[in-house]
Amino acid sequence: MLSSGTFTAKLIKKSKVSRDAYSFYFERSPAFQFLPGQYIKMTLNIENPDERGNSRFFSIASSPTEKDFMMITTRIIQSSFKKTMAELKQGDEVSIRGPYGTFTLDETEVRPLAFLAGGIGITPFRNMSVYASHKKLKNKMTLFASYSTFQDAIFYEELKSIAQDNFKFIVTITKPDPDWKGETGRIDIEKIKKHIENPQESVYYIAGPESMAQSMSEIVKSMGISENQLKIESFPGY
Ligand SMILES: Cc1cc2nc3c(=O)[nH]c(=O)nc-3n(C[C@H](O)[C@H](O)[C@H](O)COP(=O)(O)OP(=O)(O)OC[C@H]3O[C@@H](n4cnc5c(N)ncnc54)[C@H](O)[C@@H]3O)c2cc1C
Repeated sequence: MLSSGTFTAKLIKKSKVSRDAYSFYFERSPAFQFLPGQYIKMTLNIENPDERGNSRFFSIASSPTEKDFMMITTRIIQSSFKKTMAELKQGDEVSIRGPYGTFTLDETEVRPLAFLAGGIGITPFRNMSVYASHKKLKNKMTLFASYSTFQDAIFYEELKSIAQDNFKFIVTITKPDPDWKGETGRIDIEKIKKHIENPQESVYYIAGPESMAQSMSEIVKSMGISENQLKIESFPGY
């Protein structure tokens, strides 16, 4: 297990990655080691924070193999934390504690891996998928990502570009434009059975806003998938 610590990190850049989501790239010291899928706690200097305070948790969206930066991705909605985050400039420092978590890619797993992402829940899977691609892992993986509109589809081009024989990437859109050619509607049993070769034997990783994570885990459990085949990372606040 890697030990966690607290450190300050400088913002290198931020970039808009969907209608309301931004990726924040921070300098990464070689001492900061983490496993694909882990998260950090970020603390900002906020003069008058709202009742939720000046810290939030974020999955690390960059892979451990991306040595020059550590990236997190979030939707900027209304909290004082997010407003302060949106105003961060290149060179500004934030406090980071971590890494934390057991929602991690098990490279030794021989069963197929099924990743189910609801919206912003794509973040830990971007980390794991890029890691698997860089390391040329042989694990069989299927990443399902569900978004309301295509304009919300964070990392779409990048993940499509690394999809290959042992890494399938399926996007489903609940409010599609007429020209969307892919899957539509929520992730459901039918889609899981259609795209996942061996659904009963797979290990399921589910990440997303609380209500989405809960409904996806209910779907998977209703297929008779046992607790030891299921890992969940649920994001509060959405
Ligand atoms: C392990 C982990 C990983 C995460 N990864 C990401 C990520 O990659 N990207 C990302 O954008 N977000 C992630 N989150 C969620 C993140 O920490 C924020 O909660 C979220 O981004 C919303 O922040 P906010 O400031 O916009 O709203 P918040 O102020 O956090 O939340 C808005 C409202 O939601 C409710 N709420 C929030 N938190 C709680 C709670 N704990 N219990 C009950 N009610 C609550 C409150 O009513 C609050 O007013 C993660 C959370 C966890 C625990």
